[in-house]
Parts: sequence; C-alpha cells; structure tokens
Amino acid sequence: MQTSRLKKFFSYYKPYKALLLADLACALVVAAITLTLPLCARYIIHEILEKNAVNALNQIYAVGALMVLLVIVYTLCNAFVDHQGHMMGTLMERDMRNELFEHYQKLSFGFYDEQKTGQLMNRMINDTYNMGELYHHAPEDILLTLLKFFGTFFILITINVPLTLILFLFLPIMGVYAFYFNGKMNKAFRLSKDRIGDINAQLEDTLSGIRVVKSFTNEEAETEKFAYENQRFVESRREGYKNETYFYNGVLAFTQLFTVAIIVFGGASIAKGSLGLADLVTYLLYVGILVEPIRTALNFLRLYQEGITGFNRFMEMLEFKPEMVDKKDAIQLAHVQGQISFKKVSFKYKDDLDYVLKNCSLDIRAGDYVALVGPSGVGKTTLCSLIPRFYEVNDGAILLDGKDIRDISLSSLRKNIGMVQQDVYLFAGTVADNIRYGRLEASQEEIIEAAKQANAHEFIRALRQGYDTDIGQRGVKLSGGQKQRISIARVFLKNPPILIFDEATSSLDNESEKAVQDSLEKLAFKRTTLVIAHRLSTIRNAKRIIVLGNHGIVEEGSHDSLLALKGTYANLYNMQLRL
Ligand code: ADP
Ligand code: MG
Repeated sequence: MQTSRLKKFFSYYKPYKALLLADLACALVVAAITLTLPLCARYIIHEILEKNAVNALNQIYAVGALMVLLVIVYTLCNAFVDHQGHMMGTLMERDMRNELFEHYQKLSFGFYDEQKTGQLMNRMINDTYNMGELYHHAPEDILLTLLKFFGTFFILITINVPLTLILFLFLPIMGVYAFYFNGKMNKAFRLSKDRIGDINAQLEDTLSGIRVVKSFTNEEAETEKFAYENQRFVESRREGYKNETYFYNGVLAFTQLFTVAIIVFGGASIAKGSLGLADLVTYLLYVGILVEPIRTALNFLRLYQEGITGFNRFMEMLEFKPEMVDKKDAIQLAHVQGQISFKKVSFKYKDDLDYVLKNCSLDIRAGDYVALVGPSGVGKTTLCSLIPRFYEVNDGAILLDGKDIRDISLSSLRKNIGMVQQDVYLFAGTVADNIRYGRLEASQEEIIEAAKQANAHEFIRALRQGYDTDIGQRGVKLSGGQKQRISIARVFLKNPPILIFDEATSSLDNESEKAVQDSLEKLAFKRTTLVIAHRLSTIRNAKRIIVLGNHGIVEEGSHDSLLALKGTYANLYNMQLRL
C-alpha cells in the first residue's frame, strides 16, 4: 500500500484513540487471565494437594475465590471488548460512509455516466462494513494471538522442556492444515458473496422492469435467469461448507490428538518419574488455550483480506477527484439578467469520442425565448447540459451575463437555472415533499401557490390525501402529465431567471401536453428560456429557432423564414406533417 493510503487507513482511528487503548487494555487483561487460570489449578494440585499442606481446604477455597474473582474480571473485560470494540468499528464504519456519501455528491456527471449504481452502493455498504470489522478486530486479534501463543510457550517450557517441544512440533502441522482448508473455505465463501451480489443485481433488474416483464409475458424467462443465479450460489456454498467441514473437524481432531499425545508422553514421563501429576494437568489445560490463537490468527487473515480489499476499493472511489471545483475567488451571482453566450464552444464526452459540438457560437439575450431543434442525437441535450456546467467544455467558453461560467461558483450558477426534462425523477415521499425539493425552506402556502401556477393544484387536491399523498417509488402512482406538472411546480418554487425545457412534453398524450405546455409558457414568462422541442408545432411561435446539425448550428431564424430556406428545418417540419 502506498504511504498516503496507509496514513489514511490509520487516520480513521484518530477520533477513537481512547476507546482503542481501553479496548487493547481489556484484551491484555483477558489474555493474562486466560493464561493465569490454569496456573491456579496447578497451584492447588502441586502446592496444596501433592505437598499435603496444612489447612488444605481453606487454601483451596482461597484459591477458588481468587479464580472466581479472575473470572468476573475476565467476563467484564471481554464484554467491554465485545461491546465497545464492536461499537468502535461501527462508529468508524459510519465515519467512512459519511465521507464517501459526501464525496459521491461532489462527483460529476461524467463519473456517473461510467459507473454502475449497484457497484457504488456496494462500496458504500459492504466495503465499509468489512473495513469496520478489520478496524475493530485487528488490534485485539494480533495482541491476543501473540500473547497467548508466546505466553503458553514460556509457561510450559519452564515446566517441562521435552513435552513442550513435542507439543510445539505438532503445532505447525496443524497450522499448515488449518491454513490450507481455511483459505479454500474463505475463497468459496467470498465467491458465494459475489454470487449473492449477482442475485441482487438480477433481482433489482427484474423488479425495476417488472412492468415490461409482464407486458411481454416473459415471467418464465426471468424465473429461469433467476434460478440460474440462485443455483450458482448453491454451488459456491457447497464448496464453502465442504472446506469448512474439513477445517473445523480437522482442527478439532488435532486438538484431541494433542491431548492424546500429552496423556501418552506425559504418562510415560510420570512413569519414568521425570514429570509430576500436576504438570500433566497443567499441560492438558493449556492445550485448549494454545489452539485458540491459531483460530484467531486465521480469522484475522480473513478479516485482513476482506478489509484491505474493501479499503482499496473505497480509496479508489475517494481518489476520484471531482472534475469541477470552485475557483478560490469564484463569483457568487447576485442578480442574474440571464444573457447566455457560447463562444466557439467545442465539446466531446470523452477523448476517444467524436466532437458533439465544434466551434459553436450562440448568443441568447436576457428574457429571450429560444427554440432548439434538430434530428435526434445531434447534441441538443448536450448543448443544454453545458450551461449548468454538468460537463466542462473542451474549448471556447460559455458566458452568463458576460461572466465565464467557470469563474462562477457551481452552486450559485445552478441555483439560477431551472430544468424541465422529458424523464421526471420524483423521489419517494409525498407530493408536497417533491415540490418542496425546488426550495427546501418553502412554506406550505408557497408550495400550493407553485402547484397552482403549474396547473397541478386541481389534480393534487383530487388525490386521496391531497398534498400528503405518497407517490410511490419514482412516482409510479401518477400519470406522466401529472409527474411533469409536479416537476414544473418545483421549478416555479425555485424561481430561476434561466430555464431549459428538454423535450418536456414529448412523452405526453395530447391532452396532458396542452396542460403542461400551458404551465411551461407561464413559467417562461420574463425568463431566459431555451426550449428543445420534439414536436415542431409547439414552437412555431418562437421568434428565434436554432437548428442544430452535426457539430453545430446550421440554420437560424423564425418559423417562416426557416421554411423558406427549404433546408434542414423545412425537411424536419414536412416529415412531421406527414406523420
Ligand atoms: P439530442 O438531445 O440532440 O438527441 P444528445 O445531446 O443527447 O442528442 O446526444 C448527442 C450525442 O452525444 C449522441 O451521439 C449521444 O450518443 C452522445 N452522448 C449523449 N450523452 C452521452 C454521454 N453521457 N456519454 C457519451 N456520449 C453521450
Ligand atoms: Mg435529447
């Protein structure tokens, strides 16, 4: 890992230093008590029973009391590690999630054109969870493993050297075995997680398109696709469980073999007189403790792999720099007239794609109503999305009231532009919530006023719960025209001096089109308006019509003058007449 990432990795501990230290201290106590308890047993057998101490009973009770005390402390510390440690991990997870969410919101359209939403969600949910787990388990796991392993070794070697060596000779064999099958098990389970991801994606796709599925009666095909993914998941789990069985039962067998080995070799040593009974008991008690660090270490290995993978993917997202950031002395627009000029603007979406606009110049006076027409795919939407700086021009400049939009703060620029598009995006929530999105601090009266201006008040009132009606996911409970009027009400509330209508009525039926067209015209009153029209009949009255061809503007004028030109516009118009 690069040092910058390494630094970042540890930086998440910073707010929780005290908690981390307390967590480690408790883990230390847990390890110490784990190692001490068998010594208490050994003391009872060796010092009290074998030496026939006077007052034996009282001494046994005293040691017993001490052990109870240790158990209580152990439990409290362990509980602290369990609870506060996990909480620390969760808090760090929250911090990372908030940071990523904030970052996501800064990234530009270009970024979202390339990314899959499901993947972005995965970074947010799973990767941060895996990192949280690693953050909280890693320190205590490392500490506990080392302490228990070396602690046991030192205690045992002081008791009996040959027996300890036999034990620690067996240990690597078990280590290799466990490492091998644990690795295979983790790999299979990781695969099954990916498969769950596939199931998720498949499910999301089918459910989002359920209306299309049903209309084509393709339920069976969808069911088959789903069953296939679901079966693949079973296969990966099967592999996982198989290796899990080898792993756990193997480790269990090894543990029991250790016990057998100690009883046999220890028993032989006792027979030869080189080992006391108390020592044998001590060894048996420590076997259990010795196996634990191996499990912990393997568990840590898994957490480490998943956590680091998650962290690297997380950082890849964070290292995506937002394409557009405000200049230091960015202009905050105060009063916008709404004059827009394109100065020799060239634009392409990506370096290896063709130019959509080439050397395009255009002047729109404040308060003008300008229509933009042209064949589909020619770049009308693209041209409009350059004005709020959704994308950055490659060459030339766009000026708003004479100021280069790159010198204006992004938020102040976008606050002054209202857009109404063909696809309306409504958030889950009520009608009022969705209108309020235009200006979050708007009052209920202002919302109703905006709805009235957008010709939406009547139909909203007729809804069962009026403005408080829940509109379902993406507004499925409303018609296209109704959704469009809500989106127009939003813009009324926002009240920007510049408007862009991008085929706002093209997906509507004639009747809703009229209602929407009507409210759009009200909205456009006294504002600079750029209209992309699909049906040319809707913009016949525009004083200025701009015709876009490949790479830029090809014709310009009023409806009548353009028809007289008998060029692109005349062609488009006649084609629509014939339909
Ligand atoms: P129009 O609105 O005139 O129908 P667009 O502005 O949507 O046309 O598209 C112009 C061209 O740019 C098309 O060739 C289209 O394929 C391409 N295009 C549109 N959006 C993107 C994008 N996000 N990334 C890459 N190419 C795009
Ligand atoms: Mg378009």
